[in-house]
Amino acid sequence: MKTFTFSRAADTDSALHTLAQPGTRALAGGTNLVDLMRRGVERPDGIVDITSLPLSDVAELPDGSIRIGTTVRNSTLAAHPLIRERYPLLSRALLSGASGQIRNMATVGGNLLQRTRCLYFMDVESGVGCNKREPGSGCGARGGFQRDAAIFGASDQCIAVHPSDMAVALAALDAVVEVQSTTGIRRVPIGDLHRLPGDMPQLDTTLDPGELIIAVELPPAISARSTYRKVRDRASFAFALVSVAAVLVIEDGQITAAQIALGGVASQPWRAREAERALIGAEPTRDGFRRAADAELAAAEGLPGNMFKIELARRTLVSVLAELAAEESER
Ligand SMILES: Cc1cc2nc3c(=O)[nH]c(=O)nc-3n(C[C@H](O)[C@H](O)[C@H](O)COP(=O)(O)OP(=O)(O)OC[C@H]3O[C@@H](n4cnc5c(N)ncnc54)[C@H](O)[C@@H]3O)c2cc1C
Repeated sequence: MKTFTFSRAADTDSALHTLAQPGTRALAGGTNLVDLMRRGVERPDGIVDITSLPLSDVAELPDGSIRIGTTVRNSTLAAHPLIRERYPLLSRALLSGASGQIRNMATVGGNLLQRTRCLYFMDVESGVGCNKREPGSGCGARGGFQRDAAIFGASDQCIAVHPSDMAVALAALDAVVEVQSTTGIRRVPIGDLHRLPGDMPQLDTTLDPGELIIAVELPPAISARSTYRKVRDRASFAFALVSVAAVLVIEDGQITAAQIALGGVASQPWRAREAERALIGAEPTRDGFRRAADAELAAAEGLPGNMFKIELARRTLVSVLAELAAEESER
């Protein structure tokens, strides 16, 4: 492992000043960063531990929004009464991730900024190229193992997907990420945080070096009828092949609001705007759900090794919508 400096920040200002040094990274739960440093994928010059900062509260704001500090642990957030009552999809998404031990360490900010699990990105030793890890070295996955690869928004340079479950629920909920640096604070809608690869796959997000995620804000919930379903190769300790986060509002037999995001399909949580458009004003029928899923998946592009994901996403989306509609009709 490369030598690096280490410090523990006592307050946010000192963390920001340390982070402003080139090559310095925040350390939260360390469940992704330390793993990647051991593998030689990440090689920071400095590390600043942010876990002592006063950023670990979950609080309701006067307008009913919820503000979640960046160092809130995934297990704490999943179990929080406000989240369980008002945003069940977020609680379920968190509980579907990793294992109990990892969720006890993992934080909100770290979960959002965890890096792809693409085999070629994680594997330094084999010598197979990865444009995300080493720009210009090629994409091993394009001619290799594609089971996990993207069906939306991929480029010639990179077909990796974002691995976070939590981020998919946050995308459906229109969360806003609060970011701070030595020059001030800005608010980034979650849909603008993660980038598509284009010809710069080494950049996962739109954050600038030295920026620290401070908090994530959830707008007031439009409905507690929401869920998250994750389809994966085994029931635990596995990343999503496809996942669906959805909120559905049905009034007088008509869908009046829908918020849907897909996971495991792109380098960002994929907001399913086409499906949402097709649902608004429609009756909550299986045919209507199929039409909505078809509208979303029309733009999907598979490779030989991941073509199955298109049908898997279609069926999972239809099934999740049918489940939420059945819950509504039982009310
Ligand atoms: C075996 C295993 C299985 C897993 N399965 C799943 C799964 O199914 N679903 C899932 O979603 N995840 C899964 N994970 C990933 C896990 O959820 C992440 O590793 C974890 O959420 C990262 O959070 P952390 O606090 O440990 O981040 P760290 O490892 O501390 O940091 C990750 C990155 O974020 C940066 N960072 C952290 N906090 C901030 C901040 N506030 N501002 C700016 N930068 C910051 C760090 O510099 C680093 O680059 C799994 C991990 C393992 C090891």
